[in-house]
Amino acid sequence: MSISSYDGRALINGKRVEALDGQTFDCLSPVDGRRLTTVARCGQADVDAAVAAARAAFEDKRWCGLAPAARKRVMIKFADQLLAHAEELALMETLDMGKPIKYARAVDVNSAANCLRWYGEAVDKIYDEIAPTASCALALIQREPMGVVGVIVPWNYPMIMAAWKIAPALAAGNSVVLKPSEKSPLTALRLAELALEAGIPPGVFNVVPGYGPEAGSPLALHMEVDCIGFTGSTRVGKQIHVMAGQSNLKRAWTELGGKSPNIVFADCPDLDKAVEAAVGSIFFNQGESCNAPSRLFVEASIQDKFLEKALALAPKYLPANPLNPDTIMGAIVDKTQMETVLRYVDSGKKEGASLLFGGEQALSETGGCYVQPTIFAGVNPGMTICREEIFGPVLSVLSFTDAAEVVRQANASVYGLQAAVWTRDINKAHGVARALKAGTVHVNQYDEDDITVPFGGFKQSGVGRDKSLHAFDKYTELKTTWIRIDSPV
Ligand code: NAD
Repeated sequence: MSISSYDGRALINGKRVEALDGQTFDCLSPVDGRRLTTVARCGQADVDAAVAAARAAFEDKRWCGLAPAARKRVMIKFADQLLAHAEELALMETLDMGKPIKYARAVDVNSAANCLRWYGEAVDKIYDEIAPTASCALALIQREPMGVVGVIVPWNYPMIMAAWKIAPALAAGNSVVLKPSEKSPLTALRLAELALEAGIPPGVFNVVPGYGPEAGSPLALHMEVDCIGFTGSTRVGKQIHVMAGQSNLKRAWTELGGKSPNIVFADCPDLDKAVEAAVGSIFFNQGESCNAPSRLFVEASIQDKFLEKALALAPKYLPANPLNPDTIMGAIVDKTQMETVLRYVDSGKKEGASLLFGGEQALSETGGCYVQPTIFAGVNPGMTICREEIFGPVLSVLSFTDAAEVVRQANASVYGLQAAVWTRDINKAHGVARALKAGTVHVNQYDEDDITVPFGGFKQSGVGRDKSLHAFDKYTELKTTWIRIDSPV
């Protein structure tokens, strides 16, 4: 497939279609500003058509009626299809949202394929339950697919965020309508084609690209959608819960923002590793990661040494052409997000933080959207850059002297997605990990990740968990069937 042939039409009921009113929007590349293609600008009528197709597919049982082992085989083929088209998908993702091709291929494609395979593999190994009731009755507790699942995802890991939801939803037997971000719609559309080729029947997996209020809201408000899986900002996540309540009380699961604290004590077992993780994790994916450790608390006695090492590493992350296989920091997703990041940098400077590195737009001659990796020290908890999610390559460094106080500051956030603590003292590690209000706490590392563990947050970082077997709970209903037993013996 050549770049000029990227197909931006929706995929509804197994067919590529224009938006019903013929509207489109331009899909621009943040790599160099070029127009990649035009994309169907779906609205209410297109969402209605996609939901109707999904509903029909669910009711006639063309997918949910298959034995779990049969769905498993198709899901595994779907995963294989991603790997067979890995280069194409990686290139599309890089051009569409700016991440380095190296990671688009090694992380995004592989993780999405692994996720599809894992839920496919799991689905014929989960048993239902029989309750320990009295002998005159039998109570069966069974999971049933919900029906039509609406999925709305952001642009930072387009394929992975989609896979975390569509994999358990489809494996469990649901039909899906996916609305990708308007900033990165292309791989979602291609995934739906690959799903068809793998044998997922038409109508079971539909994709409606478009803007949030135009295509996302109709999905969240739809009376025929039984469940909505959302990943995105806390601001929109709150609206999703309202829309679920305003319509049919559909189940609403939200994976939202973060401002994750990373606490490094002076007795950290490996300072170089801690510095590499602190810097590498905030700059990975251009800082556009919900779980990026954007608040770094360093014990005062090691702060100078820590910052010296961090500043030595920072130039390695200066952005470069994401299509170059050696690049590790690419482009910010679009001009709007780049300007948001630069506004936060300005607010950091104005509110009195010390800018130690970066802080400027980069590579503007390319026509793309690039920001230098940025490190602020002397940050205090009241500053905007310390309170708000920036979603860009900006690290805020704070220093501390007291363990109880640093935990209090770490928890003083509306978010609670992830956190980390670095210490060689096992009591301190466990004590601080227990005290931190976060869905995931890392000890002496930041990058371990696996499909087997749940992902999600406390507080305003969302409701529910992606990944692991727990994700099946989101896309299935529990049904109890009581059977009376009048035993003749
Ligand atoms: P966003 O909330 O602006 O958009 C997310 C999705 O919602 C997009 O598809 C968008 O079109 C849609 N949307 C926007 N307005 C809508 C509306 N009124 N009704 C229905 N849908 C609507 O977020 P974003 O900028 O795309 O993504 C960045 C955010 O996502 C960050 O806050 C980040 O932390 C979060 N995120 C969270 C996780 C997690 O697992 N917790 C993972 C990745 C990203």
